[in-house]
Amino acid sequence: MGKLFGTDGVRGIVNQTMTPELAMRVAQAACTWLGGGKVLVGRDVRYGGDALAAAVMAGLSSCGCEPYYAGLVPTPALQYSVPRLGYDMGIMVTASHNPPQYNGVKVVGANGVEVPKEEEKVIEEIFFSERFKRVPYSEVPEHKTEPRVLDTYVEGVLAEIEIDLVKKNGFRVVVDGANSVGSLATPKVLRKMGVKVLCVNCNLDPSFPGREPEPTPETLRGTAEMARSVGADLLVAHDADADRAIIGDERGTVHWGDRSGSLLTAYVSEKYPHLPKRTFTGVSSSHIVVEGFLRPKGIEVVWTPVGSVIIAHELIKKGGISGFEENGGYMHPVHHPVRDGAMKAALFVEMMAKYGKKASELFDELPKAYSVKGKVPRPPTADMEKVYEIIKSKFESCEFVTVDGLKVVCGDFWFLVRPSGTEPVVRIMVEARDPKKAEELFGELKRLLEGFFSTF
Ligand code: MG
Repeated sequence: MGKLFGTDGVRGIVNQTMTPELAMRVAQAACTWLGGGKVLVGRDVRYGGDALAAAVMAGLSSCGCEPYYAGLVPTPALQYSVPRLGYDMGIMVTASHNPPQYNGVKVVGANGVEVPKEEEKVIEEIFFSERFKRVPYSEVPEHKTEPRVLDTYVEGVLAEIEIDLVKKNGFRVVVDGANSVGSLATPKVLRKMGVKVLCVNCNLDPSFPGREPEPTPETLRGTAEMARSVGADLLVAHDADADRAIIGDERGTVHWGDRSGSLLTAYVSEKYPHLPKRTFTGVSSSHIVVEGFLRPKGIEVVWTPVGSVIIAHELIKKGGISGFEENGGYMHPVHHPVRDGAMKAALFVEMMAKYGKKASELFDELPKAYSVKGKVPRPPTADMEKVYEIIKSKFESCEFVTVDGLKVVCGDFWFLVRPSGTEPVVRIMVEARDPKKAEELFGELKRLLEGFFSTF
């Protein structure tokens, strides 16, 4: 059987590998799996989103599901609304942080969480066998609209925040909406908290003229410099469907999500002392920062394979304070156990108010580490297990994390060697307390991998 779902939904280039026909069949398979019910459909600003959403709704109704269209909404707003407004399923048309030519479809269960991998397999089986349940002509539901999603979401985020505490501070925050749906929710949330918001890249435009839709320290250089020059206390930048938020401080430094995620996890464990002192993060997060900051506070760190859907399901199953990712994803389970950009932004601002500290002062409390990242082309026949054995024998005295790729953790350094899920390369991430050590180790690993791969 073929594979339909990637790490986070079905994605492709609009009108090439992601056609309305494909979107419709995914919706038919998902509705057949569900067996009928009310389905909430939303989309981000991307090209083709309107056509794909229409195809999704046609597919749903042909199989007897009732489609309700929410229009342009952040992914977390759709996810939050599915259980709270009484829907049985949600479908979001988005390709998250991918370049403008991409779009996709993501299926959300009745609890608002992406359907687990086992259920995706069932939907895939229905999709490939075209075993669609088609209802008789008189039972095809009409399309309806659902206008309450944005307000429900904004109120849901604000319900978790001490608004009066934040209001006293008169914070100024730059929000970079990635020219997409984050622009519709985060400024609203923060303004209701008494924050003065300057919104950049908040005009909706599927060509993403402001910057690439993936928020990284690199792509946010311009916005960060602007935020610093206007004297903002904080920068919050989303990806195109606003489930991620990358945070920048008042000095213009943009921080990866494992850094902001560690700070928030420690804060939330104080704010909600009844939650189990446990957090979940992907192996690509920094060991030095995450363990170094959270373990002394009595917080257990569970390392998971890379991917937010895995983290969300682990968090639901085992319980904890949070889940987070290096890429800016942050899950606040009191609100809902999925990534949520506006929730993360609101919590960060509340944390600054509670501790009475500037963003840079908070980030300065994290352990210092220097990282080097790169990739090596991987021949298709290369046996990764062999490479892992060679590396393990070289670093015998270290600790190994093998849930996804090979992570080697030693006293003052760690590294991760992991084949990419989307490109024929192996990614290398190295981090050490000493910058020279990080550079040397990266060079050593790169040579080792290149040498090994040259024999294939
Ligand atoms: Mg996203």
